[in-house]
Amino acid sequence: MAKSDKVILVTGGSRGIGAAVSRKAAALGHVVVVNYAGNAEAAEAVVSDIRSAGGNALAVQADVQNEADVLNLFAAADGLGTLAGLVNNAGVVDHPQRVDEMSAARLARMFSVNVIGSFLCAREAVRRMSTRHGGKGGAIVNLGSAASKLGAPNQYVDYAAAKGAIDSMTVGLALEVAEEGVRVNAVRPGIIDTEIHASGGLPDRVARIRSKLPMKRAGTADEVADAILWLLSDKSSYTTGAILDVSGGRAILP
Ligand code: NAP
Repeated sequence: MAKSDKVILVTGGSRGIGAAVSRKAAALGHVVVVNYAGNAEAAEAVVSDIRSAGGNALAVQADVQNEADVLNLFAAADGLGTLAGLVNNAGVVDHPQRVDEMSAARLARMFSVNVIGSFLCAREAVRRMSTRHGGKGGAIVNLGSAASKLGAPNQYVDYAAAKGAIDSMTVGLALEVAEEGVRVNAVRPGIIDTEIHASGGLPDRVARIRSKLPMKRAGTADEVADAILWLLSDKSSYTTGAILDVSGGRAILP
């Protein structure tokens, strides 16, 4: 197969928002690297859907908090062609706890996956896409969260703080590479109907919180993916360092 100049790498592309981004990016003609941590079946299902629709994708296992895994992940992307975009989507929550109950192990995982993983992937993307490194430019979209503004008390202040770091990283990195052809933006979803809530021990979270949301409903992975695809595309060519709330009005005030 000929190499593509439109390779998009989606971390955590196997499920939820990442899977929606992967499918939509492939439909727009991108070759998509569908990264996953452990759920090979889900990742292969996304790849299979994309190929059935005439697109091209590859599932690649890598734990984003592990530097060697990240290097392998980007090497796999290099094998497909020229990297045009990274979606730093892989993320985890944990069970509801107060800060005075949190273990060091919990905190290490929270910041390692959500923050260090995003930094490692952004670093590798910049090394490939920045004109400073001989690249042709590109776009990075980070997944923040409305939690960074809400603080998530009695639930997961650690997650909120990790996503706060993503907000800061988005602005700082955007300015570092602004004249190097790389745009860096973030989306900050509100309550989106995915499996992440069950993974945090709250499988009925969406149903329970629905009536308290401004639009009286959760968002869908597709609705967040559409915003991400816009930020990846040339249609947002003058947008960098932006943090776009895709939250149905939740936490839109500073
Ligand atoms: P999800 O349904 O739980 O899916 C998480 C994805 O991340 C899966 O593909 C998972 O892979 C992958 N992943 C987890 N840990 C990883 C690691 N260490 N290395 C590589 N991949 C890893 O989550 P989601 O709801 O789509 O959330 C996606 C992003 O949006 C996250 O950053 C999340 O914090 C953010 N967000 C979500 C919401 C929401 O309400 N859903 C709100 C605000 C922000 P496996 O399939 O292999 O497990």
